[in-house]
Amino acid sequence: MTNPTTTRGSAVGNTLQDRCEHTLREHAMRAEQQLRELESDMVGLLRDSGTIQEDRDGSRRLIESVRADLERTRRALGRVDSGTFGRCTACREPIAAARLQAIPESERCSSCA
Ligand SMILES: [Zn+2]
Repeated sequence: MTNPTTTRGSAVGNTLQDRCEHTLREHAMRAEQQLRELESDMVGLLRDSGTIQEDRDGSRRLIESVRADLERTRRALGRVDSGTFGRCTACREPIAAARLQAIPESERCSSCA
């Protein structure tokens, strides 16, 4: 494994990173909880032969979107651990603080998004 960045440490400043990490952890916890609930609802929907297909499709889409959201959040937390949080995954430039505050799971800067 090679590290493409030569500078270690936070790209965005520790205060912002800590705040984002906190938000991301809460976000991940909520998404996990929601996913568990949706999945148990889904079991009921699949078991109930009276359920219309559209309801199943709707639930499935919702589960997919929460799961994708959770994956994005986990990847962001992974970047916190590896010290690359706040750095654009495309151009390696720091992502603007305002953008991270609005969307802490941002992977790219506004020019690469
Ligand atoms: Zn970029």
